[in-house]
Amino acid sequence: MAISLDDLPLRDDLRGQSPYGAPQKKVRVALNVNENTHPIPEDVARDIVESVAAAVLEVNRYPDREFTTLRESLAAYLGHGLTADQIWAANGSNEVIQQILQAFGGPGRRVLGFPPTYSMHSIISRGVGSEWVEGVRDADFTLSPETVRAEIERTDPDVVFLCAPNNPTGTPMELDVIEAAYDAARGIVLVDEAYAEFMPADRPSAVTLLEGRPRLLVSRTMSKAFAFAGARVGYLAADPVAIDALRLVRLPYHLSSLTQAAAVAALRHSDEMLAMVDDIKAQRDRMVETLTELGYHAWPTWSNFVLFGGVDDPHAVFEALLERGIIVRDLAIEGHLRVSAGTEAETTAFLDAMRDIRLGA
Ligand SMILES: *Cc1c(COP(=O)(O)O)cnc(C)c1O
Repeated sequence: MAISLDDLPLRDDLRGQSPYGAPQKKVRVALNVNENTHPIPEDVARDIVESVAAAVLEVNRYPDREFTTLRESLAAYLGHGLTADQIWAANGSNEVIQQILQAFGGPGRRVLGFPPTYSMHSIISRGVGSEWVEGVRDADFTLSPETVRAEIERTDPDVVFLCAPNNPTGTPMELDVIEAAYDAARGIVLVDEAYAEFMPADRPSAVTLLEGRPRLLVSRTMSKAFAFAGARVGYLAADPVAIDALRLVRLPYHLSSLTQAAAVAALRHSDEMLAMVDDIKAQRDRMVETLTELGYHAWPTWSNFVLFGGVDDPHAVFEALLERGIIVRDLAIEGHLRVSAGTEAETTAFLDAMRDIRLGA
């Protein structure tokens, strides 16, 4: 007889929880998980393949446990005078976040986030046995220094998550919010900057706040701007002492030599890899403009996606788009859908479909 999860000796605190579940469907235009939909340039791909090929010849040996070359490459990419001892990396920023929570969260500790926000923040928190508590945002999904301070005082967290800019709303976050959170919190403040490259070029990253703030951790990813989601590379900038804490919980050799080789090769071509970012920002701005013309409410965004409201029946619009070979994200925010900026052709296909759906065509 088939058994169910209820029949297994699962941890009590995991009973009734849902796994991460963005649908993975093969469709013509996939704009649902904020990937960079531009393929990586052919010459970059060739360099990556050659680097991976060389690494394969040594794959009988364990990889460099300290992934030194990769940390040097990431430090150089981030700039701001950062050095390799201030950098950490793992298989996606999700793994970086999990290691941070294993070291600084864990059972009996409390993690504060501000929904609607990235669903993995709460899932990873619960996965390591931490209590997840929810702060309340200001109007329009924003977060002021006063509010963040008050919510930290109210909940007394061990770890504070700030998603800057926020997913799934795209909401910008200014550095004064991060400074206020740091001053109010006794624990770790983790700024998730997965979309940093899509911010306006003149806006500073939270890495500029690291000096003198050993409890501040800034996570980044190669999944979004760098078109590297399938390779699984996320990273962190922080005080070297905070990074030492992660060595206590990571599995030895967690970054394979193939991953390290691929990421180092891609970072050699960061200019070319990031050449698409300006185009993606232009497509995102086109989405905001056209959705607004169509009578939807597109929220301000510093990321590579747009959250838009004024959708009477999000599920019906989701299905109508899917029928046309386009997938977006239905996050169960009432009256809203989220769409990732695509290539020019994909963006046009989405906007044409939205116009048809609006006009009942
Ligand atoms: C997409 C995303 C990530 C990326 O996760 P990876 O594991 O690096 O692919 C992290 N944080 C946020 C807020 C995201 O939207």
